[in-house]
Amino acid sequence: MRIIHGKGVSGGVAIGEARLLKKEHICVEDRAVDDPDAEWSRYEEALARTVTELEQLSAWSMGELGQGGAQLFEVHAMMARDEDFNEAVRSVILTRRKNAEYAVNEAAGQIASVFASMEDAYMRERATDMRDIAERILRHLVGGSERATVSADEHGGGMGDILCAYDLTPSETVQLDRSRVRAFVTGGGATNSHTAILSRTMGLPAVVRVGEALEHIRDGMLLAVDADEGLIYLEPDEATLDRLRGRMEDGARARAALGQYRDRESRTADGRLIEVCANIGRVEDVREARAVGAEGIGLFRSEFLYMGRNDLPDEEEQFAAYRQVLTEMAGRRVVVRTLDIGADKQAAGLSLPPEDNPALGLRAIRISLSRPDLFLTQARALLRASCYGRLAVMFPLVVSEREVVELRALWEQAADELRERGIPFAKEVEIGIMIETPAAALISDRLASMVDFFSIGTNDLTQYTLALDRQNAALDRFCDTHHEAILRLIRFAVDSAHRAGIWVGVCGELAADPTMTEALLRMGVDELSVAPSAVLSVRERVCRTHLGERAPVQMMKGSVLE
Ligand code: PEP
Ligand code: MG
Repeated sequence: MRIIHGKGVSGGVAIGEARLLKKEHICVEDRAVDDPDAEWSRYEEALARTVTELEQLSAWSMGELGQGGAQLFEVHAMMARDEDFNEAVRSVILTRRKNAEYAVNEAAGQIASVFASMEDAYMRERATDMRDIAERILRHLVGGSERATVSADEHGGGMGDILCAYDLTPSETVQLDRSRVRAFVTGGGATNSHTAILSRTMGLPAVVRVGEALEHIRDGMLLAVDADEGLIYLEPDEATLDRLRGRMEDGARARAALGQYRDRESRTADGRLIEVCANIGRVEDVREARAVGAEGIGLFRSEFLYMGRNDLPDEEEQFAAYRQVLTEMAGRRVVVRTLDIGADKQAAGLSLPPEDNPALGLRAIRISLSRPDLFLTQARALLRASCYGRLAVMFPLVVSEREVVELRALWEQAADELRERGIPFAKEVEIGIMIETPAAALISDRLASMVDFFSIGTNDLTQYTLALDRQNAALDRFCDTHHEAILRLIRFAVDSAHRAGIWVGVCGELAADPTMTEALLRMGVDELSVAPSAVLSVRERVCRTHLGERAPVQMMKGSVLE
């Protein structure tokens, strides 16, 4: 038995067979290009992203596993920058006027075959490395159409899969066959990356950042994952299996005990009523939300309808999805967030250009406002679905009043279009915004009069307040989610909302942090929206909390906000 270490980002224990995730083969076209210089720039951009990615993977592994762990990625970064390789790519693009994908494939193929024919076993292995690097560059060139699958014939017996991959994109995560997957193990990954959030939404144990140790896992190998401790046991012995099975039973008992909160109100011990709602990423997740008695859907990340495919969902498809969620929630509020593509969430159907700083780039409502056709399609689908339940809509990544004015105007335009076509929609659809940028929090007193509610997205609010890329696992140790700057922004947004007479929720991961429940309630938050798997434990926490009379909000590290 071997034990490897990582970081648990979604708790629990699972036992199953390892499934190494295979990336779908990227089809490389052989195409003549009119502008080889532009093609070379495209390549340079993809190369720069590849090198940054490899350097990050190397840093993660270094932090977790020391020099040995980081080596593989360091070597890959070096090989990607190698002059001979880049010269070969350059000559195919500039001299033979071919597309960058073809050039990368050709140059890497030639170098890999030279390695493969060498006598030295170590050098022969570099052929696989070269192919890996080429695939990474190709993925950056094709921009987000990456897709991973575990095909049906790869499925083993009745045990369930522990999915193992170097990295798993959010679009890959949402496409996984949930009936099979028992847990995730990845080489890289940050705590608040969308992939980690999705594993929590799916209620699956997940351990990230095992780095190079992933190499020890073979397909079909028996694995036991203890995500509470961040440990993976390879071919566990009987004693370990018994112990972990015991933990699984304890977990099942604890979950059963929480069952008593399923049909309870979310009311504090001294009588304050709030709502504990569920965050969902896929239409199917609504079943989980209902099963735990969520008081509503506080965040439906609608962008997942656009991801993991090459086309875009049309009005009919979106209408059907929103209608299903609203119908199943049977009159409970469903907050749908409009398209929040960008940064780590890419949609191939949008063909967005690569950016140097995607987290600060064309994402979320910036796409909606640049491509009103997209927003209007989504708005019409939402309005049509509004007849089937209690719909609320919110806009992500707002930084200014002007954006809200423009988005509301587009929303009205969609309503007018439906009116002209005689298509019915509900009179009352609440319109809210996410408070997930410091700018929005700081002008929340102005924004509050323009909308019906706020939902505080602490994941991005943390990223932008602390200037800390949420995707970068090497930064986890700098990521203080309880930083007083963030708490002050939340407090100000809550006060702004209440002064304007609107409700305010928290839908970022902080809402599920048990050490923060009391502080958020004391600030006056009206709704907490968390992964379905966390609804009952958060409700239990709320019910046990006694707020008392106007007590100050105790912040972390002993400080107090008045
Ligand atoms: C957030 O930023 O806190 C949030 C809820 O949105 P997402 O995690 O999808 O960016
Ligand atoms: Mg966000």
